[in-house]
Amino acid sequence: MYIDEIVLENFKSFGRTTRIPFYEDFTTISGPNGSGKSNIIDAVLFALGLARTRGMRAEKLTDLIYNPSHDGDGETAGPREASVEVVLNNSDGALARSQVVNAAGSDDVGDVETITVKRRVKRTEDNYYSYYYLNGRSVNLSDVQDLLAQAGVTPEGYNVVMQGDVTGIINMTAGERREIIDEIAGVAEFDAKKADAYDE
Ligand code: ATP
Ligand code: MG
Repeated sequence: MYIDEIVLENFKSFGRTTRIPFYEDFTTISGPNGSGKSNIIDAVLFALGLARTRGMRAEKLTDLIYNPSHDGDGETAGPREASVEVVLNNSDGALARSQVVNAAGSDDVGDVETITVKRRVKRTEDNYYSYYYLNGRSVNLSDVQDLLAQAGVTPEGYNVVMQGDVTGIINMTAGERREIIDEIAGVAEFDAKKADAYDE
């Protein structure tokens, strides 16, 4: 399974609908400082529910909505809503139809060779709302997370390596690095279960 494309609408610096295609094996994105490269990664984290607000370099969820006066002191009113859709190519069958149907809570998920996960954030006068969709069906964050976990994509995992993570890993102790390897290999889960069993 891999990302085919992402579609951003009013997400961070992307103040218009932007489609970003990805290749199956390797895609690099280059551009000057501040041009929005990291915002694209933030968009993936946002849509797939992989990070908290701080992890997307924002203080609150509504900071992720495009703000025309973000870098100035003007007070131009911006849009009230942002969304990101991640289009996953599942033609290798990494996720079975039954798993998608189960997560979506509906049979009406179309052809699961393509799986779309979309998230919207909307602000009102005094509140904000966040919505997730799986192949067009309204779902909860836990539905998205449970489904992606079955394809090995989790918030604790190292599917996304952020700026600074590599230096962080180099500066770790051998023990701390071992914990990461355990996490990637999928054995950390058993260590936690073993510790729980001993506690009982
Ligand atoms: P670098 O090469 O320095 O890592 P980058 O290409 O990764 O740069 P980003 O961090 O993705 O750049 O983009 C930063 C830009 O996004 C800043 O100019 C910032 O003002 C803008 N930005 C962030 N949030 C918003 C928002 N809500 N509305 C408008 N612009 C925003
Ligand atoms: Mg960056």
